[in-house]
Amino acid sequence: MHRELADIVEFDEELRTLVADMVATMYAAEGVGLAANQVGVDRKVFVFDCPNDDGERITGVVCNPVLELPEGKERVLDVADEGCLSLPGAFVDCGRPDTASVTGQDENGNDIRFDGDGLLARCLQHETDHLHGMVFGDRVPEKSRKRLYKIHEKYADMYPTDWPVSPIMDDE
Ligand code: ZN
Repeated sequence: MHRELADIVEFDEELRTLVADMVATMYAAEGVGLAANQVGVDRKVFVFDCPNDDGERITGVVCNPVLELPEGKERVLDVADEGCLSLPGAFVDCGRPDTASVTGQDENGNDIRFDGDGLLARCLQHETDHLHGMVFGDRVPEKSRKRLYKIHEKYADMYPTDWPVSPIMDDE
């Protein structure tokens, strides 16, 4: 998950198929966002379907994301529970700026921009981090990080090793 990813340069059928697969995987795993490297594809694209501070669901596809975060007085840290589909079952407090904007392209190569607050601000930062080879465990203090991986270990047996690519099997 810490590998360098390739920029998206061709907005072709292959990319659109990847995006459709990622959206399906995200919904099956009940996540609010998913980055390509979480399904083993090292290319810079993420998908999301996440509520903002007004509870409005925003969905989108972002290729080659560039994040804009508030600075100076505008920068207010929001500390809240954060989790990741690549660490299923585990949540710890993570402080992040309470608003974030991301620019990039959609799956057809059109320029797009999303401005997020609430959970959406967190989601846009979390997914962009993934595409820069960072996971949210890297963003929390060491004590929280240890707790995060410990909680995850407890749950790890319940998930396939390539989760969220493979679904959870029923016990039948
Ligand atoms: Zn994640």
